[in-house]
Amino acid sequence: MKKTLIAGNWKMNKTPTESITFVKDLLERTKNYNDRDILICPPFTSLYPISTVLKNTFLFLGAQNVFYEEKGAFTGEISPLMLKDIGVDFVICGHSERRNIFGETDEIINKKIKKVVQNGINPILCIGEKLEERETGKTFEIIKKQLENCLIDFEDIEKLTIAYEPIWAIGTGKNATPQQVEEVHTFIRNWVGKKYGQNISDSIRVIYGGSVSPENIDDLMKEKDIDGVLVGGASLDIDKFSRIIDYK
Ligand code: PEP
Repeated sequence: MKKTLIAGNWKMNKTPTESITFVKDLLERTKNYNDRDILICPPFTSLYPISTVLKNTFLFLGAQNVFYEEKGAFTGEISPLMLKDIGVDFVICGHSERRNIFGETDEIINKKIKKVVQNGINPILCIGEKLEERETGKTFEIIKKQLENCLIDFEDIEKLTIAYEPIWAIGTGKNATPQQVEEVHTFIRNWVGKKYGQNISDSIRVIYGGSVSPENIDDLMKEKDIDGVLVGGASLDIDKFSRIIDYK
């Protein structure tokens, strides 16, 4: 039975000292659930300090980005090899802020997810449409294009988590309804099923991100095809994030 995934993306927030205090508190407040995995994705500077606290615990550690080479003259970049060495389990690839602020393309994201799995780490591929694309009925077309481009020649589908993150719902307080999310997740699962086989498609996690909060988590998690959430703003607050993890 596939576990759900509750992931916190801290973006560019929390110093290493603040990060350690947070995860120690989170370990005390949450428990080792049988049916859900909990993941923290702090900034790069907090990864190593947090990894020392999380060793042999039930919390997973993730990075928010990575470069697609293992080493070399790439000033300012961090490789999957380095992340693996400090015990990183997951990497977020292609978050909309990376696409829109830093110009990441589907081609770059495709290279990243391939290199991440080669290094034994699980990629979380983010996809999602802009507001005008939803309003002009292009949601499924955009999702299909992103899946096709980001998964070119990608074989290790069982290691992949797909995060549907409609851009209009990220950091806006305007979450997609459970029904809107469910129909896109079903579309994603069908697309994956056609390319890789239905069994694999049923076994991978398709999670939702976009203004997830203690108020909307329970309704979202009731949907059949929502296998978890990627939480930005609300994951910075220990009370809110603990409640999201403890969804009913
Ligand atoms: C995110 O950063 O992936 C995200 C979904 O942010 P928020 O929860 O703040 O909308």
